[in-house]
Amino acid sequence: MRYEVNTSAGADGRIISTIDQVDDLNVRVTLFCHVGDTRDAQIRAALEKLGWKPPNAQSPPARSKCLVAGCANQRDKGVFVGDVCGSCYSMLVMGQCGRGETFIHTLYAERDMAQAKIKRIRSLL
Ligand SMILES: [Zn+2]
Repeated sequence: MRYEVNTSAGADGRIISTIDQVDDLNVRVTLFCHVGDTRDAQIRAALEKLGWKPPNAQSPPARSKCLVAGCANQRDKGVFVGDVCGSCYSMLVMGQCGRGETFIHTLYAERDMAQAKIKRIRSLL
C-alpha cells in the first residue's frame, strides 16, 4: 500500500490537493481533498504573501452551482468551499458518503464494489 499526494492548479483559479491511498491491487481511495480557490480573497492574500503573483487575466466569476457532477446545490443556499458545496466537500474530506446521485456517490459505490471483490478474492487465497 502506498499514499500519493497530488496538487494541481486549474486555469479557473482552483488549486486542488489530494491524498490518495492505493492498495496492492491498485484500488485508489481519496482520503483527503482540499479545493483552494484563488478567487477567494483570503486565499489570494495568503498566496500573495508567499510571493504568488496573480495572473493578468480577469478571473471568471465564482460558479453558482456546486462543481460536483450531479449535485444541484446552489452557492446562495448554503456553505461553499471554493466551488464545492459543504456536503460534497465533507464527503471528499471525511471519506463518508450517504445516499445520493452525485459523482462522489458513484465513486464511493464503485469503491465499495471493488473492495467487496477484493475481499472475495482474498477469501479464496
Ligand atoms: Zn455539492
